[in-house]
Amino acid sequence: MTQTQAGPPQDSQTPVSDAVIIAQDVHKWYGNNFHVLRGVSLTVRRGEVVVIMGPSGSGKSTFIRTFNALEEFQEGSIVIDGITLSHDLKNIEEIRREVGMVFQQFNLFPHLTILQNVTLAPIWVRRWPKAKAEEVAMQLLERVGILEQAKKYPGQLSGGQQQRVAIARALAMQPKIMLFDEPTSALDPEMVREVLDAMRTLASEGMTMVCVTHEVGFAREVADRVVLMSDGLLVEEGTPEEFFNNPQEERTKRFLSQIL
Ligand code: ADP
Ligand code: MG
Repeated sequence: MTQTQAGPPQDSQTPVSDAVIIAQDVHKWYGNNFHVLRGVSLTVRRGEVVVIMGPSGSGKSTFIRTFNALEEFQEGSIVIDGITLSHDLKNIEEIRREVGMVFQQFNLFPHLTILQNVTLAPIWVRRWPKAKAEEVAMQLLERVGILEQAKKYPGQLSGGQQQRVAIARALAMQPKIMLFDEPTSALDPEMVREVLDAMRTLASEGMTMVCVTHEVGFAREVADRVVLMSDGLLVEEGTPEEFFNNPQEERTKRFLSQIL
């Protein structure tokens, strides 16, 4: 594909001003031989919720981790809210402020209270005064429904509560984009809903979100677009209605037959 140096493509559906993630023809190799991302392009508009599905090992985590520079890539380009990802350290810091991430494993600091977990980055990275960071943190904890746990330690909380803390912690940095990498996969079934509810609220407030998840109910209800990734490629994308009810690609049909 020929690309002009001017950056994002202008197609009728995606006014440039509206696109907050523009990944174009992204290639990544692990080592010399393993071509894990084989030319992946995805544009996400402001306020959009995109769900990425696909079999294990297809490169979903690797792909979304490139959005906040947790993974390098070798070819293609990624522009996050007007900032072109490069190896420049300053650029990486800038990107990480804009892009919050929630992982399958909550990665909370076990020796810090819930409140301290949420205020840590705002105090150290944003240089907010402690009082301001705590005020914002308390609001966020209330928003995800765990205000009363603020003084406890992660080990005293259920998995679902810990994951909601992880969401609040990411939000504390006031990101413009939130990435979720199978946020409910490590949870007991009865805790999945409370985490999905927090994500649903966030989506309804207009947050731009890219979620790797196999929660079909969530995808149907909340996603603007659903994308199937397989073997390092995006093989199909559509509205939830199109994707689940009328998939075009054999690969998608096969995948859906396994999860529905
Ligand atoms: P998914 O999230 O879709 O399950 P991943 O992005 O985690 O897929 O992984 C895609 C492929 O890359 C898998 O085959 C995985 O084993 C491999 N992989 C992931 N991380 C590394 C790494 N750090 N080094 C080498 N191979 C990796
Ligand atoms: Mg993964």
